[in-house]
Formats: sequence, C-alpha cells, structure tokens
Amino acid sequence: MTTERRRLVLFDIDGTILSCGGVPASALGDAMRAVAGAAGPIETFDMSGKTDMQIVRELLVLDGAPAPRIEAQLPEVMERYRRLLEERLRPEHVRAKPGILALVEALHADPAVTLGLLTGNMEPCARIKLAPLGINERFAFGAYGSDNADRYCLAEVAVRRALEHTGRAFSGDDVIVLGDSIHDVLCGRSIGVRAVAVATGRTSREALASAGPDALLDDCGDLRATLAALLG
Ligand SMILES: [Mg+2]
Repeated sequence: MTTERRRLVLFDIDGTILSCGGVPASALGDAMRAVAGAAGPIETFDMSGKTDMQIVRELLVLDGAPAPRIEAQLPEVMERYRRLLEERLRPEHVRAKPGILALVEALHADPAVTLGLLTGNMEPCARIKLAPLGINERFAFGAYGSDNADRYCLAEVAVRRALEHTGRAFSGDDVIVLGDSIHDVLCGRSIGVRAVAVATGRTSREALASAGPDALLDDCGDLRATLAALLG
C-alpha cells in the first residue's frame, strides 16, 4: 500500500475521528458548576483544538474567577468531568466521522505506519470517547491534554511516546498530524511535521486553508485520496 518509508500518523479525536453530540460539553459544564459554581460562556465557547484544562481555565477566566482559585479547583473539575463523561456517554452518542474507521483499519494494516493520538482530551476521556467505536487498541499511545494544557507542547510528547513504543525516532515529513482545527495544523507546523486538515469539525474549510495545511480534505470518505494526502 505504501512504500517502505516509516511514518507516524497522529490523530486528533473530536471533530476528526468522531463527535459525541453535546454530551462532553454538558458534562464539563456541570462539573464546572458543581466545583467552581460557574461555567462561563460555555454554550458559545469555541473548544476546537483546545485542551480540556485550557478550556476550563479560559471559561473561568471569562467568568471573572481569580487565577489562584482556578488552579486550586482545576483538578477536582477535571476529575468530576471524567466521571460525568463516563456515566453519561452512551454508544449511540458517539458518531464516527465519514471514512474514519476504514482509514484507521487501513493504516493499522500498513506495516510502514505507526498510529498515535494527539488530542486535547485528558487520556481517560480520550479512551472513554473512543471505546464505543472499538478502536482504542488501534492507538497504543498518544499525547493528551493531561500531559500538558498547552496543545503546542503535545506534538513533541507524541513523537517521544512513538520513540518509546517503537524504538524509532520519527521526524519531519515522516510525522503526519491529522486534525479538524487550525490549532492541529499549527501544532504540527510548530515542530516542522506534516499537517493534514479535515473539515469535519466546527472549523470551516476556508479557515483551515488559511492555516496553510499540507493537504486539506472535506472528509476522509475517499480512502484512496485520504491515504494519498496523509502519506504522499
Ligand atoms: Mg478536534
């Protein structure tokens, strides 16, 4: 399917692999209200490409909470969010984006490809969201919002985890970041790897194009075209 060249393909989750309807946002809002007494403008807030902790911090700042209080409450908010997500997320809430499951299987079957996650979700939340699709075992490792609240630090973490798992040091064009937000593209750019954008999330095709991805897809429905965009 591909050449011998070894590649590391890193998948974003929300808006790229799947959507969970409004369940995660309502769980997060309820966790914030229970612990911090407020959830800020969560109904209208753009969470695309942000880490879970970053979302909570930004919402509480917008609500006027002082930074020390936010930091003190953050661990409890995150733990409560994880619990609520686990309780409330039903398999029927989780919808795979077009072509994603076939894409994951095709890449998994390709011996030249290593798969990983690169997501703003805390690790347990990432696994809770992926479980109904039955693809958790396809992603042996990843970089998560629980590794660092700054998404721009996560690409390096993912590459380091890939080295730990495979013994192989991936870099440059051999690393491909697939995501639905401008931050996914810029996150890839920040460490000089390949960034492929897919317009299946909340960010428009035009906005994604403005970030200058190496390739831009409407969705992953065309397996051959998607593999070409990812692997060149
Ligand atoms: Mg996303």
